[in-house]
Amino acid sequence: MEPQPRTPLSEAGRQSLLDTLKQEWRQLHFLTELSEITPYECDALAAFTQLPLGVVLPENEAQVQMVLKTCMRLGIAVVPRGAGTGLAGSAMPTPDGIVLSTAKLNKIVNVNPQARTATVQPGVRNLAVSDAAAPHGLYYAPDPSSQLACSIGGNVAENSGGVHCLKYGLTVNNVLKIRAVTIDGGVIELGGEGYDAPGLDLLTVFIGSEGMFAVVTEVVVKLVPKPRTAQVIMASFDDMGKAGDAVAAVIAAGIIPAGLEMMDGPATRAIDRYLNIGYDTRAEAILLCESDGTAEEVAEEIARMIAVFEQSGAIRIQVSRNEIERLAFWSGRKNAFPAAAQMAPDYYCMDGTVPRRYISTLLRSIAAMEEKYGLQCINVFHAGDGNMHPLILFDSAQGQWPQAEAFGADILEECVRLGGTITGEHGVGIEKINGMCVQFSEAERAAFWGVKFAFDPSGLLNADKAIPTKNRCAEYGRMHIPRGAMKFPDLERF
Ligand SMILES: Cc1cc2nc3c(=O)[nH]c(=O)nc-3n(C[C@H](O)[C@H](O)[C@H](O)COP(=O)(O)OP(=O)(O)OC[C@H]3O[C@@H](n4cnc5c(N)ncnc54)[C@H](O)[C@@H]3O)c2cc1C
Repeated sequence: MEPQPRTPLSEAGRQSLLDTLKQEWRQLHFLTELSEITPYECDALAAFTQLPLGVVLPENEAQVQMVLKTCMRLGIAVVPRGAGTGLAGSAMPTPDGIVLSTAKLNKIVNVNPQARTATVQPGVRNLAVSDAAAPHGLYYAPDPSSQLACSIGGNVAENSGGVHCLKYGLTVNNVLKIRAVTIDGGVIELGGEGYDAPGLDLLTVFIGSEGMFAVVTEVVVKLVPKPRTAQVIMASFDDMGKAGDAVAAVIAAGIIPAGLEMMDGPATRAIDRYLNIGYDTRAEAILLCESDGTAEEVAEEIARMIAVFEQSGAIRIQVSRNEIERLAFWSGRKNAFPAAAQMAPDYYCMDGTVPRRYISTLLRSIAAMEEKYGLQCINVFHAGDGNMHPLILFDSAQGQWPQAEAFGADILEECVRLGGTITGEHGVGIEKINGMCVQFSEAERAAFWGVKFAFDPSGLLNADKAIPTKNRCAEYGRMHIPRGAMKFPDLERF
């Protein structure tokens, strides 16, 4: 079972539908003017745009139910939207469809320090959860770089990660329960506040479903105690392979750092030009490796990490001496995107994952692709979990977007060939939908559609994202590559 192509509405049909909706939703905030709906035509991946029919902003769960029931009755496609910071076009509207924004569902329902949980509405910003928990010495661990702006609903839909997820887990490891409204207006609750919930584990199926199953209206998240202290090591290497070895060696030594990030030489130099914070500009790779816990735990772990980096051939090792220095070390990594923006009119942030031992293999392939496509690419990434973020620099005014897009697709196919995946944390959306043809077999994609239709038999919720149809894959013309199909026996040392 797959969704059928939708026939576009005529201008008269659109107008008549809008008139009906304005009447039905007269009590709701419903935006229809061009100037009001244009900001919703894309998410943070501005290369893909589509104007919606209108944007509705419900204020409570009952209004979400009302909106979805209307859409189901009239056969209107719906795209849920949080803060619109997604990087894969997942919140881009469907033609002739409605955007359901959660911006007004933005209340923190409660913080329970005894249970170490917070119950929040989906439009609450990620960082606002930690701010609310801070008086109790607690915080919400998953920390996407966009945490100042992105919403918890968006985090659930994308299974978002961040620097500290290596130690503390992704969104899926930090959400206990959700409430959501299905397309027919029904309310479902998945998960529970205990260690195990009865029934099928649909919570983990739901997390990462990119708004295709139901609209989340409430989320119970885990809170964890704020570490007493933290220190970060900045280690430079004159060779990317040695830095890759060091990452594998840290994990092999049984250390789970609070964060383990890598930047290649060009990224390091770009960041230092932008911020002038004293990064080692001679380095071909820099690792940032954090330890957190009590003072004793941190001192012991930092000593072990230093020993590993020395054995792996680090050419310079610095350890933050205080909180100001720790934040300064991290500020470079956190400003990699603005630094890239100084280098070219546009950049395209990719998101793929490879087994840690193939990080340097992938980086070498990317260097070859720079030649092939005539575009520069700088690399910053969550090295600890092999999640790469190549930033492809291009100029759309010079017509370079098609090269940038093809370059990105090539990187993702290489990730699959190396046994990795086409996304680490940004989701599939519209951007990587063709990559799904490469990553998954027809039988696997059919299973995904089966789950989608079990939650949303109408197929109206964000239906043109994340899972490609058979026809789409046929048109794209790429074969499914079984994961790890390409072996590099000579590179097994990584
Ligand atoms: C500068 C920058 C840095 C970033 N860094 C990171 C990072 O470190 N790690 C990371 O993982 N991501 C990162 N992102 C990507 C993005 O911030 C995350 O994917 C985030 O979770 C999106 O949240 P949002 O509220 O903006 O969701 P949106 O972009 O609005 O929507 C994303 C998806 O969620 C769905 N959705 C939203 N709300 C709901 C709901 N209530 N119910 C059902 N579905 C819903 C939408 O339909 C869509 O499919 C970054 C983005 C930017 C711009």
